[in-house]
Amino acid sequence: MRTLNVALGDRAYPIHIGRGLLDRAELILPHLKTKRVAIVTNDVVGPLYLDRLRSTLEAAGVRAASVVLPDGEVHKDWPTLNRIFDMLLAERCERSTTLVALGGGVVGDMGGFAAACYQRGMPFIQIPTTLLAQVDSSVGGKTAINHPLGKNMIGAFYQPKLVLADIDTLATLPARELSAGLAEVIKYGLIRDGEFLGWLQHNLERLMARDPEALVHAIEVSCRNKAEVVAADETEQGERALLNLGHTFGHAIETGLGYGEWLHGEAVAAGTLMAAELSCRLGWLDEAGVENIAALFERAALPVRGPKLGVERYLELMAHDKKVEAGRLRLVLLRALGQGVIHGDAPQADIVAAIEARCR
Ligand code: NAD
Ligand code: MG
Repeated sequence: MRTLNVALGDRAYPIHIGRGLLDRAELILPHLKTKRVAIVTNDVVGPLYLDRLRSTLEAAGVRAASVVLPDGEVHKDWPTLNRIFDMLLAERCERSTTLVALGGGVVGDMGGFAAACYQRGMPFIQIPTTLLAQVDSSVGGKTAINHPLGKNMIGAFYQPKLVLADIDTLATLPARELSAGLAEVIKYGLIRDGEFLGWLQHNLERLMARDPEALVHAIEVSCRNKAEVVAADETEQGERALLNLGHTFGHAIETGLGYGEWLHGEAVAAGTLMAAELSCRLGWLDEAGVENIAALFERAALPVRGPKLGVERYLELMAHDKKVEAGRLRLVLLRALGQGVIHGDAPQADIVAAIEARCR
């Protein structure tokens, strides 16, 4: 098992990464205020892992209530959030009860937001079960639900007490979800970790084959990168925006096609290639660099071209991105492989050319 610390002063917390962690009550117990937890999961993850987690906790004398939510991003909404509160109140959970989110990013984001709100804040623990959640959404304290008018629009910054990433849970993850998680893993290498990017070039097939040792390493390095960025800029005033490489183009793809058509990581991969094309036009990357990125995503079974929505539509959708500030499109681009940069002055003609270069 590997352990990292997210350095956030009195809200610092550990991330444990390894095999068989669902069976290890001693990792969870030190973080509970009382011997009571409320587990939030969904109807895909629950049948696979809820009983195991519950017996681990109950064997250690912890009383565990639970709620099983319907699976899917479409249920990351108010009525579903309310089901968490219904359970917490029906079970008479207290402010000292710990909420445990067991699942992917949807369960983690909703569970975290519920924990931030219930009785003005109860402690919570993340047990992420997708690669994306293990390397990205469970770390950093962003919690939210969707609004019909916008994704993740209702939420809070709220840090967990502990993140427990049991890589054995990835054994049941659909291949497409594994690839989507790898898009965010590759992102960390591209924006700030050239050494890790080199490691990925050598080990991508091991990750695709779910080699445990390779997974633990990739998750650890990804979390370390994210934790460093978050510790330096918790509420996204500056550097944290680097984590959005490929995301402004990617959101245009997700929204343009209708949510759910492409997975987030797939849209981020194609979006990253657009950002790379633009970086090339600004003279920062050469064509070999762009091809290098494309080859890596292809090995991860990810798309390296966006859908043909039309450039106008891309631009329109990108203008609605959360990252637009005072009407100015601030894009995350690449100064070099392993070095992201936030740039607000890319010429429109270059943005158009970059999108066109990467549409099917
Ligand atoms: P998800 O939670 O929908 O999980 C993907 C699918 O895999 C779901 O069907 C899920 O039930 C299933 N699943 C989960 N674990 C499994 C397992 N071990 N075996 C088999 N199936 C399993 O999606 P995700 O990609 O994990 O997360 C996406 C969500 O995360 C989005 O809502 C996004 O907004 C959010 N997110 C948040 C942050 C953040 O900083 N808070 C960052 C990135 C993404
Ligand atoms: Mg993302």
